[in-house]
Order: sequence, then C-alpha cells, then structure tokens
Amino acid sequence: MTAYKYARVPEGGERIEVSGGEFQVPNKPIIPFIEGDGTGPDIWAASVRVFDAAVALAYGGKRKVAWMEILAGEKAFKTTGEWMPAETLEAVREFKIAIKGPLTTPVGGGIRSLNVALRQELDLYACIRPVRYFQGVGAPMKHPEKVNIVIFRENVEDVYSGIEFRAGTPEADKLRAFLKTEFNKNVREGSAIGIKPMSPFGSKRLMAMAIKYALKRGRKSVTIMHKGNIMKFTEGGFKDWCYEEAREQFGTLTVTEADVGKAGSTARADAVIIKDRIADSMFQQLLLRPEEYEVIATPNLNGDYVSDAAAAQVGGLGIAPGGNVGDNAAVFEATHGTAPKYAGLNKINPGSVILSGVMMFEQMGWQEAADLIMRGMEHAITAKTVTYDLARQMPGSTEVSTSAFGDAVIAGMKS
Ligand code: NAP
Repeated sequence: MTAYKYARVPEGGERIEVSGGEFQVPNKPIIPFIEGDGTGPDIWAASVRVFDAAVALAYGGKRKVAWMEILAGEKAFKTTGEWMPAETLEAVREFKIAIKGPLTTPVGGGIRSLNVALRQELDLYACIRPVRYFQGVGAPMKHPEKVNIVIFRENVEDVYSGIEFRAGTPEADKLRAFLKTEFNKNVREGSAIGIKPMSPFGSKRLMAMAIKYALKRGRKSVTIMHKGNIMKFTEGGFKDWCYEEAREQFGTLTVTEADVGKAGSTARADAVIIKDRIADSMFQQLLLRPEEYEVIATPNLNGDYVSDAAAAQVGGLGIAPGGNVGDNAAVFEATHGTAPKYAGLNKINPGSVILSGVMMFEQMGWQEAADLIMRGMEHAITAKTVTYDLARQMPGSTEVSTSAFGDAVIAGMKS
C-alpha cells in the first residue's frame, strides 16, 4: 500500500479490485473523494450525507463507504504547494473508484486543466454523461421527457490530446515547414497548429464500453456520432472502427440499422441497433426526434459539445452528472465549475455531484442505493423544493439551501 503524506487511509475500509474487466466491490470500500474548490465544500457536505443515507437505507449497515479525502485544486495548492499532488493520482489508482467536486483551473503555470490531467494520467478513456428529464424542471423543449440518453465521449484522444503549438513559435513554424516539404500541404504563415490523433484502439474500446452498457441496461441502440463526411480519416475512421468493433466483438448481439429486418440476418431479435449520424445532424435529431436515441458514442470534441447541449435541452445543465471511466479506475464528477461567487453561502445546487454518486453506485453494482438517490431527487424536484437555480425556472417553487436540498432528497428516499 502507498504511504500517503497528506491523505489518511480510513481504518476498516477495504480496497476495490478489478478482475475480469469488472470492478469487484467489497462491503466497506474505501472511496477517495476530492471536495472541490469554491462551492465544492458546501456541495460535498450535502452530497455525502445523501450517499451515506442511501447506503444505510438500502443495506442496513451491511455495506458502508469508507470515505478518504484526497487533495486537488486550490485546497491542495494551499496545503502541499501542488495543484495535483502525485499521491492524489496514486490514491485513485490504488482504490479504483473516486468522486470529485469542481476544481479551480489554475491560470498560467503550465497546467491546462486538472480534469484533463486526471483523465490522461489514469487513462479514463470514456466520459459518460447521462441526460434525462426531471419532472417539473423548466426546460426549453416542448417534450423534454422524451430525452433519455447516455453519451459516451472519448476522453483522451482527438484535439484534446494536447499536441498544440502557439502561433509564431519555432515549433509551429517548423511543423508548417515540414508539412510543406514532406507532404506539399499549405498552412498559412504564422498559424497556430493543433493535431487531432484518433486511433482504432481508442475508438474501439470506447465503442465496446458503450455497447456493453446498452446490453446491460436494455438500451435499444448505440449511435455513432461523427463528422466523417469532412474529416474522413479521423472522424470517418472513428465511425468505421466503431462499426468494426460491433461486428467483430458483439456479432449476434448487435445489428446495423441498415440490416434491421433484412432476410438472412443472424442478429438476435433483441440485438442492439448500431447506427451513425453526422455530428450536425445529431444535434437536430436530439431536438426533433430525441426518443430515437438511447446511447451515443462519439469522439472527444463532439462529445464535449453534445453533452452540454443535451443537458440544456432538458433544463438540467446545473444538475448534469458525469463519470470518467477507464478499465482500471473511474472518477465521477460534477460537470459544472466552482461557481466561486456562491462559495460558503450554502446556496448552490448539489444535484450534479449527487447524481454523479448515482452513477458511481451503479458502476459499483450498488443499484439499490443508486435507485434510492434517484427516487429522492425526483421527489425533491417534484415537490418543488429546490435550490435557487431551479427555483428561478420553476414557478411556485420553494427555494431552499444546499443543505436543505440534501435533506429533501433524503426525505424523498423514504417516502
Ligand atoms: P461555473 O463555476 O460552472 O459557474 C458558472 C455559473 O453557472 C454560476 O455562476 C451559476 O450561474 C451556474 N452554476 C454552476 N454550478 C452551479 C450549481 N451547482 N448550482 C447552480 N448554479 C450553478 O463556471 P465558471 O464561472 O466559468 O468557472 C469557475 C471555475 O470553475 C473556473 O476556475 C473554471 O476553470 C472551473 N471549472 C471547473 C470544472 C470542473 O472541475 N469540472 C468545470 C468547469 C469550470 P448563476 O450565476 O446564473 O447563478
């Protein structure tokens, strides 16, 4: 076991292991958490009470999470002088499943984003974002209840891989000259240049995770969202590799949209339908015919845009959860930022971290706890007992504090 300088490993807790590609979760798992900056402490205080209450209610003391605080962001910097101490990454590597609040992105100092660092260091290659409607939330769509999708966004490749050169630097100029001399490709003088690497390996493992999710959860289709009509070898490659993965690894369990109902198909009647849509059309479809989509697999940049757009469609951007999942570790997180102007005011909505906890418990196989939290959230929102952000979109609602919203969720679990 790693010797931790700042973190304290809780006594009596046990390690989650990975075997056969699955997380093996003991009854008293050690789960590291990052409280988060700004409004993070308020949000975490409410969320952890909800998590513990759900586990207690579901398992009556047989199961219990042993929480272990690990440091990142401003809190880490103040204590250790580092924004992302090595032992924080080590703790996630060792204990496998973690949850985090929002972190301040340091300005300057060579760190692009702590979240990107976490994803890349731990190879958390899928960013999973479920988007569904909560009855009563003000939403811009006429029928937001028709949206119920889960987006699998590739998390470590594409233009996010960090190979980017500032305009006017010797590196950018050298690359430009290389492209001209070696490939006779013209890039305007003084340009910034970024690289978009996408591999069969990275694309296929994302698609495999999306298909397994659809199979496990009885979702009817997986849609590959790409811009392969223009970026033929990167995004087009993604589409082809995803289809290949479905065909080669999930033979009779999947069927392409084009082959549905065709004579001679060997696919099972309940096979997951694999379709693809060009990225721009996907945005239209999610507005016009959202009920036709269930799971979406997409490269990094498309996924970034479509996750927030879909969450906004159902009025749920402030409560959208997320999980960054790899084969050996997973970190669940708030998708919003630190909202620093509300820090310490007990005002902000903790829903994003609470729903990320639902995802975490589902990943752990603690479905009963996940279901109770979801039930509590539904009750709290239907009763219109909500924080300021939802209250302003919900006429006739009662505005409550962060902690009181947590109380309402806990009460809702029991009703
Ligand atoms: P932000 O913190 O998400 O806040 C923008 C606005 O969104 C808030 O002022 C608030 O709107 C609303 N909001 C965000 N979270 C909310 C919640 N839980 N409940 C209710 N309303 C919420 O974005 P930002 O101001 O651009 O970023 C602040 C810092 O967070 C930056 O350092 C940024 O880099 C970082 N950040 C971190 C993450 C992450 O760790 N995952 C993600 C994004 C940004 P109103 O003002 O209308 O009330």
